[in-house]
Amino acid sequence: MIIVLLGPPGAGKGTQGERIAQRLGIPKIATGDVLREAIRNGTEQGLAAKKYMDAGELVPDSVILGIMKDALSTPAAAKGAILDGVVRTVPQAEGLAKLAAELGRKIDKVVLFDVPDDELIRRISGRTVCEKCQTPYTGREPGTSCAKCGGKLVRRPDDEPEAVKTRLNVYRAQTEPVIQWARDHDLDVVEIDATGDIDLITKRAMRALEP
Ligand SMILES: [Zn+2]
Repeated sequence: MIIVLLGPPGAGKGTQGERIAQRLGIPKIATGDVLREAIRNGTEQGLAAKKYMDAGELVPDSVILGIMKDALSTPAAAKGAILDGVVRTVPQAEGLAKLAAELGRKIDKVVLFDVPDDELIRRISGRTVCEKCQTPYTGREPGTSCAKCGGKLVRRPDDEPEAVKTRLNVYRAQTEPVIQWARDHDLDVVEIDATGDIDLITKRAMRALEP
């Protein structure tokens, strides 16, 4: 069962993806994680990716898809996988569908996390991280102290309200068209309300994933 998670930044895909993966007993695959792992393991695709990164360039879709192919071919992913942040554009969705077909599989579900913009901005701008030990916090103001090491909490530049608006615009322009693409290709797209209690959101997601 290949499940693609879609949703704007701050929608909770990472957290919920972990929970869903655990309940279904399949791995969660996030692009950043498998990319770092491929580089660490020195795989062919990892080395190719490293070349681009060392040159300060974006890793092309073809290389990312190669890494995905490796990740989906592991025994751990034989039963399925939750893909988080893997599909951000229509070409990436097309590439993934083709890759799945090559592996004799398909994208079984697309789960769309629905959260209103003002809630996303509120969530993301409430995040801070310790300057020293990198512990993340939610709902603690920048400038206050880290509970672990006393370091100063700062907001990542990406999480500043202006940057969040830009990220949302990129999502609307590049990722939202994937939803229509998926519907046009008869994929099973389920939309869930990703606001409110964290356990309740997991419940909604699990219900949406029932066959
Ligand atoms: Zn700290």
